[in-house]
Amino acid sequence: MSGCPGLFYQTSARDGILSRIRVPGGILTSQQFRVIADLADELGTGYTNITNRANLQIRAIRTEIPAKFLRVLQDIGIASAVPEVDHLRNIMGSPTSGIDLYELIDTRPLISKLDHYITTHPELAPLSPKFSVAFDGGGSVSIGERSNDIALTAVMVDNNVYFRLKLNLGTSLFEPFIDTDILLKPEECVEVVGALAQVYLQHLTLEIGNTIPHRKSRQPRFWEILNNLGIERFLQKVERHLPYPLRRFSVKSSHTQIKEEYRDIGCNVYSKYQHIGVHPQRHKGLSYIGVVVPVGRLNTLQIRGLADIAETYANATLRLTPWQNLLISDIPQQWIPKIQSKIENLGLHWSATNIRSALVACAGNTGCASSATDTKNHALALAQYLDDRVILDQPINIHFTGCEKSCAQHSRSDIALVGFNIEDKGEVVEGYKVCVGDGDSHEKFGRELYGWVSFTELPSLLERMLQIYMAERDASNTSFGEFVNQYVIADLQRLFDK
Ligand code: SF4
Repeated sequence: MSGCPGLFYQTSARDGILSRIRVPGGILTSQQFRVIADLADELGTGYTNITNRANLQIRAIRTEIPAKFLRVLQDIGIASAVPEVDHLRNIMGSPTSGIDLYELIDTRPLISKLDHYITTHPELAPLSPKFSVAFDGGGSVSIGERSNDIALTAVMVDNNVYFRLKLNLGTSLFEPFIDTDILLKPEECVEVVGALAQVYLQHLTLEIGNTIPHRKSRQPRFWEILNNLGIERFLQKVERHLPYPLRRFSVKSSHTQIKEEYRDIGCNVYSKYQHIGVHPQRHKGLSYIGVVVPVGRLNTLQIRGLADIAETYANATLRLTPWQNLLISDIPQQWIPKIQSKIENLGLHWSATNIRSALVACAGNTGCASSATDTKNHALALAQYLDDRVILDQPINIHFTGCEKSCAQHSRSDIALVGFNIEDKGEVVEGYKVCVGDGDSHEKFGRELYGWVSFTELPSLLERMLQIYMAERDASNTSFGEFVNQYVIADLQRLFDK
């Protein structure tokens, strides 16, 4: 199988066996959440992590998950009935699907239908474990630009909802999708994704044998097949699997009245984290609350506490986000203050301006052999240091990564900290390259501000950077990324070294 973990294909990591639980659309019941806590307690070290695909990861498992546990997970609907396809990537959906004030369509039924299709078609097992699909309903919390092979994003054309079919060509990190100019009716989406998967499948054997010789060690990615075949030829083959032709419609050149996604889904960090805190739902009198989960990690007391809150005051549902936080939905107004205080009692947070709301870290060197640094614990220590020193008024996305692979976050951040070590007088010193914003940089992590800063010096440096940003920005809604993008690096260094 692959290096990607699943529930039935656990992989070894530095801290033990790593298991990943697919949560289609990131939505799970409080009962499912409790069973995951039992699993983490019995087999792991009492922790679980939310991933950047809104999966759950249990790390440091000491022995293979016993068959009886897997059966329980299958019985409650969080493990595939067909283990052969469990390794395929989670289907991504907006965490506010079905409750979003602005969405054009609730994508939850489509996600369930596609999940059912995948988990009942064992012939899809040879697909790359990275084969990935996302549905975006056009609401305020968009996942349309997240990294996926296939993105279906809702659009309103002449008062009818369609999905634009976008395919990832793998050619650009920051603009990965090509819009195919194909519009799908909602009821066509699963059939078309199935046809895309079937064409991909048919070409895998051929590509492995012939045209991608250097890729024999793994299944070619969807975008490799797409590039090899050419998009038009690929889509012609897809049409042969369908009882109807694909509907071509250029959204850009059309004069038809079109309503696209609610908001710009570019690089504005604030918009990425607007799910944190209390927000009204489309259902009158109900709200959801976005809970900050520091570096995506929850202990089992917190999991059970959140399940209690969801059962007592809401609708017993938890919604995991690809930003490694979670939502509790369908809360009557009168329970909001009580829930806020209960979240705080669990050692968690609910404010978007908490320094932890947009703090992201990969597994780090306690769990991953590739990591130079202890990213998760460094991130938590930094947050604790900044707590009393910097009062934010909007989220700042700080991303710690233990190597260039950047598992925890593929998009740019306000501040990226890329771990690497130096040797000083025979001692290994952990530190980070500090990158900021993006400007016109094509660098993966944005522009390099400092080549290396030891972790000991990092908290006071970030305190200074954040305070200068708060004091010197033009307007209170200027994000940190927008602020630093206004300067060349030498000027920024002068500013922050004051
Ligand atoms: S980003 Fe690198 S160090 Fe961090 S978990 Fe991924 S492979 Fe390991």
